[in-house]
Amino acid sequence: MVECPASVAVSASRHRSGERVGVLLPLPLGGTYDYRIPPGMALSEGDFVRVPFGARELAGVVWGPGSDAVGEDRLKDVLDRYDVPPLPPESRRFVHWVSAYTVHSLGSVLRMVMSIPEALQPPKPALAYALSHPPDDDTRLTPARRRVLDVLADGPPRPATELAREAGVGPSVIKGLAGAGLIAAVAVRPVPPPPDWRRPGPTLSPAQTRAAQALRRAVGAGFAVTLVDGVPGSGKTEVYFEAIAEALEQGRQALVLLPEIALGAQWLTRFHARFAAEPAQWHSELTRGQRRRTWRAVAEGGASVVVGARSALFLPFRDLGLIVVDEEHDASFKQDDGVAYNARDMAVVRARLGDLPIALVSATPSLETVVNVDDGRYGRVHLPDRHAGAPLPRVTVVDQRVDRPPRGGWLSPTLRDALAETVSGGSQALLFLNRRGYAPLTLCRTCGHRLRCPMCVAWLVEHRLIGRLQCHHCGYSAPLPDTCPSCAAADSLAACGPGVERLAEEVTDLFPEMRYALATSDTLTGPAAARDLVRRIEAHEIDVVIGTQIVAKGYHFPLLTLVGVVDADLGLTGGDLRASERTYQLLYQVAGRAGRAERPGRVILQTYMPEHPVMAAMVSGERSRFVAAETEARRELRMPPFGRLAALIVSGRDEAAVDAAARALGRAAPADDGVRVLGPAPAPMSLLRGRHRRRLLLKAAKNVAVSAVIRRWLATVSLPGSVRVQVDVDPLSFL
Ligand code: ADP
Ligand code: ZN
Repeated sequence: MVECPASVAVSASRHRSGERVGVLLPLPLGGTYDYRIPPGMALSEGDFVRVPFGARELAGVVWGPGSDAVGEDRLKDVLDRYDVPPLPPESRRFVHWVSAYTVHSLGSVLRMVMSIPEALQPPKPALAYALSHPPDDDTRLTPARRRVLDVLADGPPRPATELAREAGVGPSVIKGLAGAGLIAAVAVRPVPPPPDWRRPGPTLSPAQTRAAQALRRAVGAGFAVTLVDGVPGSGKTEVYFEAIAEALEQGRQALVLLPEIALGAQWLTRFHARFAAEPAQWHSELTRGQRRRTWRAVAEGGASVVVGARSALFLPFRDLGLIVVDEEHDASFKQDDGVAYNARDMAVVRARLGDLPIALVSATPSLETVVNVDDGRYGRVHLPDRHAGAPLPRVTVVDQRVDRPPRGGWLSPTLRDALAETVSGGSQALLFLNRRGYAPLTLCRTCGHRLRCPMCVAWLVEHRLIGRLQCHHCGYSAPLPDTCPSCAAADSLAACGPGVERLAEEVTDLFPEMRYALATSDTLTGPAAARDLVRRIEAHEIDVVIGTQIVAKGYHFPLLTLVGVVDADLGLTGGDLRASERTYQLLYQVAGRAGRAERPGRVILQTYMPEHPVMAAMVSGERSRFVAAETEARRELRMPPFGRLAALIVSGRDEAAVDAAARALGRAAPADDGVRVLGPAPAPMSLLRGRHRRRLLLKAAKNVAVSAVIRRWLATVSLPGSVRVQVDVDPLSFL
C-alpha cells in the first residue's frame, strides 16, 4: 500500500531572458542544472528545452528557478525551446512523488517520461496530393489520369500510394500528373479518427448497469478508487468501456493499463467494436516511430484513449480524466529493473495527484486491494455472474499420487481421457504448463552434472525446437552439447521434467491427429503472432492449445471447454510471501478460459497436494474464504499490507567487494522504532548476468515512512563505484 501523496508544489512561473532556470535532465542524477535564458527567449516551468551538457546536447525540462550553485562565468545558455506543450504540473508532481517513494533519482524518473526524446520534434508532415489547376483541355486526358482527378475531386488530399490504389493506376500516372502540374503535393498531418463515444454499447444486465453507472458517476467527480470485481466473462471490460465513454464525453483523456500486450489483440478488437476507432498504443512491441506518434498525441491532447503497458503511466497526459488498471493483481505491473515501481500503486498515486478516478479491475484482486476495500478506502462494484448466465467451469483435482501419469509422461489417465473426449466432441482444450521450452533441466546420466548458466545461478532450459539451451534469466544461449561438458560421456545428457514443447510431444504420441498450437513467449513474439493464434483458435484450426501463463489471461474462446493444469503445484514451492496468492490468481485466471460460451467448461488440476488451501479454494469456488485466511496469516506476520517491506540488492562483478559493501550496509542498518533489517544474505539469484548479488530486507511497521528511512541509511554509507545498490520499495519478487 502506498502512502498518501504529500502535496508537492510545482509552479508555472515565467522566466525571462537573462534569468537562470534549473533544468532537470533525464539522467540518473540527483538534481537540476542551472542554465541562462538567452536573449529573446522566455521559458515557463515544464517547458522542454535543449541544453549543452558536457560535450553533448540534451533535452530536459525547466524544473524551477536556478540555484546559483554555478558561477556566472561558467553558466551556459539554454539552446532552444522545443515546440511541444510543456510537461503538465501533474506529471511533474508525479515525477517528484515517484522519485521520493521509490528512492530513485528525479532524473531516472524523468527518463521514463522522456523515453522517446525525438517526440519533442514536431512530426514531419506527410505529403499528399491535391488538385492544382484544372487541365487546359480535358479531352486530352488519358482514362487513367482522368480517374485520378475524379478521385481527388471529391475527397481530401491523398498520399500517392493511396491515390494510386483508389484510382486503380500505377505510380507513374501520379508522377506524370504531378509533372504536368495538374496535381500538387501538399503537407498534411493525418489525424486518426477519434473514438466515438456516442455509439451505443451492448444492453447491459442489471448488475452491469449498476456497476457502469457507479463508474460513470465517478468520472469528473475527483479522486476515487473503485475495484471492479467480477468473475471472468462477467462483462468487466464492457462496464469500464462505459466509464471511458463518459470520460470522452467530458472531453478528457483515458488511460487503460494492461499487463501484457499479447492479450491486447482481442482487447483492441473489442475497443474497435465499441468505439469504431483505434486507441493510441504504448508498449515495447511498437516501433519507435509509433511510440513517437503516441507520445506526441498524448502531449497535444489528440490521443483521447491510450492503452498500454505499465510505462504508459509516465506519458505526458494533457488532460487525463480516467485510469483503468485491468488485471490489477498482475505481477507484470511491477518493474524490478531501473526505477523499481508497481504501476498499479503508482497509478493510484497518479489519479490522486490529478484528482481523477481510477478503476482497478480483476477477477482475483490482490490482497492489498481487497484490504483497502474492506477498510473503506476503495469502493467496489461487483459482477457476480458470467454474462448470459454461462455457468462457471466445474473444477476437479487429480491426485497425482494415485492417478499417476505413465512413466516418462505428464498427463494422468483422467486428464488424458478428458482431453480425448473434449476434442472428439468438437470442442477445444487448453493444457496449461507454466514452463517454456522442452525441459527445465538437463543432466548427465553418467556423472550427474547439471547444465547451468555460466552467468547466473540457474539451470539451462532446453529449447528443442531451436536446438539450443537457454537461460531464462539472462538470455544466455548455447547449442546442446553432444557430450557431457564435465565427464565427456557421449549420449549421456538427459532431459528432466516437462516444458510445453515436451508436453506437445506427449500429446502427439498419444493423439497423432490432434492439432495443437504452442502458446508461449517464444511463439507469441508480438501482437501480430498473438492475433494470428487467436484467429486460428477462433477458426477451429486448432484442437488443443499448449501454453504458459501468456494464455492464462483475457482470452475468450467460445469452443474451449477443457482446461488441464499439468502441474498446479508449480508456483507453490520456494516460500515466497505471495506464493499461495499468486498461484490461486493464476489458476483462477487459467480456469476462466474454460466454457465461456454455451458449452459448459471443466477444469482439471493435477497436483500432489490436493488438500492445499489453494486447491480447496479452486474446487469449492470460495475465493473469500481463501482470501480471508491469507489475510489473517499476513496480519499475524505483520507482512504487507499490514507491514511494509523494502529490499536492497547489492550487486557487482567482484564478489569480495559486493560482500564488503553489503556488510557495511548491514552495520549501518537503521535502528528506528518499528524497523528491522534482515541480512545481508545471498539473494536467491546470488549470481545474475555475471553479477554477484546480496540482499538486505527492511521490514517495517505500516506507519513507517520507509523511503525516508532508506534515504537516510544510504546517505551514511559510502560504497565503491563498482558496487550497485538497487532499492526496491514494496518488492513483489524476492529473487
Ligand atoms: P470480463 O472482462 O469480465 O472477462 P468481458 O467484458 O470480456 O468480461 O465479457 C465477456 C464476453 O461477454 C465478451 O465477449 C463480451 O462482449 C460479452 N458481454 C458481456 N456483457 C455483455 C452484454 N451486456 N451484452 C452482450 N455481450 C456482453
Ligand atoms: Zn543466465
